[in-house]
Amino acid sequence: MTYKVPFIRPSFPSADEVAEDYKQIVASNWFTNFGPFERKFAQEIGNYIGDEYTAVTFCSATAGLLASIVAILGKGDNSKYVIMPSFTFAAGADAIIWCGYKPLFVDIEQRGLHMDIDATKTAIEQYGDEIAGILFCNAFGAGTYNIEEWEALAKSFNLPLIIDSAAGFGSLYSNGSKVGRAGDCEIFSFHATKSFAIGEGGAVVTKNKQLAEQLVSIQNFGFNKRNATYLGFNGKLQEISAAIGLRQMDVFEDSLKNKRTIFDKYSKGIDSSRYSLQLNAQNAALCFAVIVMQDSKQRDQKLNELHEAGVDAKTYYSPALHSQNYFKDCTIAGSLHTTEKIEASVLSLPLHYNMSDEHSDLIINVLNNS
Ligand SMILES: *Cc1c(COP(=O)(O)O)cnc(C)c1O
Repeated sequence: MTYKVPFIRPSFPSADEVAEDYKQIVASNWFTNFGPFERKFAQEIGNYIGDEYTAVTFCSATAGLLASIVAILGKGDNSKYVIMPSFTFAAGADAIIWCGYKPLFVDIEQRGLHMDIDATKTAIEQYGDEIAGILFCNAFGAGTYNIEEWEALAKSFNLPLIIDSAAGFGSLYSNGSKVGRAGDCEIFSFHATKSFAIGEGGAVVTKNKQLAEQLVSIQNFGFNKRNATYLGFNGKLQEISAAIGLRQMDVFEDSLKNKRTIFDKYSKGIDSSRYSLQLNAQNAALCFAVIVMQDSKQRDQKLNELHEAGVDAKTYYSPALHSQNYFKDCTIAGSLHTTEKIEASVLSLPLHYNMSDEHSDLIINVLNNS
């Protein structure tokens, strides 16, 4: 079914602009393998995050996750765990398993919907040397309110902290620092559904130059001058995708500002006695707007009403990973009480660039109707 208000409406450069880039690519006879568009795009992504940061582009965030885990933790032998939330997208758990580790699911906290730091500490104390690292997720791309505490926790247990910020390019942590600057590295997705969209693509950002070099090698078959030095694969970003990325970079700040204005409308308009917004979402890149409802009954009812009114809404990240077939036997540390409560009551609303008042008012009205 097609909706009057689709869930995602990506905004892309015009066909004419992309045709210009493509002409240049054909004329140069350089289609992929770190050509001029990719080199410039990687530079701009790194500069956007901050002076000391290096960005390594990838063909997807999933490829970036795989390369980061194998670079930082090494290839596992299925004996160790990587701590992660169950309330996230499947790619993180997939990457952990592909790299030879086992996901260890911990609960989330209620306000930011991020992994719970106390539950994580308890899990680390319980599992000790069986833990190889932490894969934190900035849920829905919104920066957590306690990133300093996460860095301190990882440091105190001497564990790597890898951060899946897939939907968070452009987001800020609560302390004002850019998402992309924390942990050993942060991973972004430029998938068509994310706020910074190029189709398929991603990047890993780090201030560790040696790690960045290793990531470039891993995404290029592990080569160091044609001599395979690491376990690698093909994770490269091709020129036309990087060209689209450069065009998106030019309009990104504007588009972020526009989306935050629309989020502000939601935040003022939605009945806050019945619904709560994700903490710090006003500083997020906002692929969509996440609200937590009172219970599953209210959620399912409003989801239905929105669909009937011609608005597509979703229940991301529900079902959580531990409720999905492939991950249902993964180990759970402690309880997933809050995860289960949130997966039953979470709702994601469309939030498009340049969304009309008519559409945002329609959504607010459906939610606020009794
Ligand atoms: C979108 C997303 C991914 C996957 O990104 P791809 O670029 O499609 O590989 C991974 N993790 C999270 C949290 C995501 O939202």
